[in-house]
Amino acid sequence: MVGTVTAGLPRMREDLAELYRDLHRHPELSLQEIRTAALLAERLRTAGFDEVAEGVGLTGVVGVLRNGDGPVVMVRADFDALPVEERTGLPYASTARAVAGDGHEVPVMHACGHDMHAVCLAGAAALLAQTRDAWSGTLLVVFQPAEELAVGARGMVDDGLFERFPRPDIILGQHVGPLPAGFIGYGTGPVMAAADSLDITLHGRGGHGSRPEATIDPVLMAANVVTRLQGIVAREVPPAETAVVTVGRLQAGTKDNIIPDKAELGVNVRSFTPAVRDLVRAAVERVVVGESRTSGAERDPEFRWFASAPALVSEPAATERTVAAFSEYFGAQRILPMPQVNASEDVGVFGESLGVPTVFWFWGGLETESTVAAFTEGRMDELPGNHSPFFAPVIEPTLSTGVEALVVAALTWLGKG
Ligand code: ZN
Ligand code: ZN
Repeated sequence: MVGTVTAGLPRMREDLAELYRDLHRHPELSLQEIRTAALLAERLRTAGFDEVAEGVGLTGVVGVLRNGDGPVVMVRADFDALPVEERTGLPYASTARAVAGDGHEVPVMHACGHDMHAVCLAGAAALLAQTRDAWSGTLLVVFQPAEELAVGARGMVDDGLFERFPRPDIILGQHVGPLPAGFIGYGTGPVMAAADSLDITLHGRGGHGSRPEATIDPVLMAANVVTRLQGIVAREVPPAETAVVTVGRLQAGTKDNIIPDKAELGVNVRSFTPAVRDLVRAAVERVVVGESRTSGAERDPEFRWFASAPALVSEPAATERTVAAFSEYFGAQRILPMPQVNASEDVGVFGESLGVPTVFWFWGGLETESTVAAFTEGRMDELPGNHSPFFAPVIEPTLSTGVEALVVAALTWLGKG
């Protein structure tokens, strides 16, 4: 059955590669994916989908292919790009610039490979649409915006994704990464971390740099907060658990001899279980309030949590079943078990909101031979990873493997034709 569906891939390859180069050359920031969304919606219409909707969760695209009795299988790809200046030197490298949410002009690049995700799903959708006799059930194709802001999946769910379109029995998705092209990596259970972003404002009392006694210095307060926050993972999280607290932004003041009246911090928290996530979030607030009061601040700090994604759980039994199908199709030597990844993905929001399993895997995008050598020699850190200005998958065999993996996974759950 799988072979019947993937038989059409060789004829489609060059067209998909051209779509990939086009998307790569024209990346769009999160929630600005207008051109990308229009191209993908057009692909679904051309493929003969029964229903194609745009603008779901602002810029999301949904396609429904009804093909008789059987399960509803949702296959998801994200399609937003990042504010990164591309340095790959590829002939189809991006030179795009755009105005980010904060009003600044930034370079834009598909540095996370979401263009590859979208093209592979467009290809898999077209193959399944061409071969309706080979399977039965309903295919729900979801092109999701704004994964990089961790708001896109939530936006689509809140916009009625599962009320307006068939409710899936299972959710499938994949991410390209710094593995050898042609290989698939997988984990079971929590495979990617929960992510929580936090803006903190510390209030002091400003004044002349020569008269610290008349001020409450938010710079010293912020410095203490930064070091003190590192005690949470070191001293409060059980050693067998994993968490990260990163202060990625610290801003205060305008001039050396002025003590400012406030300091701002941007904090990112990663965790894998709800218990650790709650523990760390509460500890961060406790430490910051504590430092502020210890400094004599007259006003407590302010917290703004945003961009939260739950840990991504690839449901163990469903993952085993899908990976068994991968092994059969690709050969077991091309399937690699992988450790947990501390990066995050908001795809888990879909399954969590419905209480249905998600199966999520990774696939390789780096030149096969040199990457296998780097893995063998323990030089993985030298490889360009996601979000690097040098990260761009080799088109083949990345594209074909990504299309085939989606088809194999979807057919594992759809009914037989
Ligand atoms: Zn990313
Ligand atoms: Zn990504």
